[in-house]
Amino acid sequence: MHILVRCPQCDAGLPVRGDELAAAIKCGRCGREIALHVSDALRSDRTVDRCPVCEGAEFYSRKDFDPKIGLTIVIVGACVSGIFYWFGRDIIAYTILAGAVLIDLLVYGRLKDVTVCYRCHSEFRGPYPRTSPAFDLHTADVLEQEYARRTGRR
Ligand SMILES: [Zn+2]
Ligand SMILES: [Zn+2]
Repeated sequence: MHILVRCPQCDAGLPVRGDELAAAIKCGRCGREIALHVSDALRSDRTVDRCPVCEGAEFYSRKDFDPKIGLTIVIVGACVSGIFYWFGRDIIAYTILAGAVLIDLLVYGRLKDVTVCYRCHSEFRGPYPRTSPAFDLHTADVLEQEYARRTGRR
């Protein structure tokens, strides 16, 4: 399992592997020591039951999608179709543009889910079965505030 630990202090993403997790890691940006509490299920790739960073047990799933890639496909498609449009080949131009949007949707549909911690936004990727529900705004509001209060006290 790959874990993207989110630094509570500066929000930097620190990639670590689940089977190599130490008791603590140091943030490469701000130097803060982040204590990690790794559960057995997490270490053995079974499931994400407890967040190693904030020890929260609430997670949500979202598509593991990099918006930059999607945008690139559409921009390239738009440029190519723009050239055909210039030469008066409207039908081809629209076909290419529609194709680019379609490829975008296909890529999105095939993406795997990433599990995200509601409190500290650490991300988990791996072959384990996804059990977390979809994102819920109310839950996020409550848990993020709780985490902010907690890290502010430290
Ligand atoms: Zn940091
Ligand atoms: Zn967390």
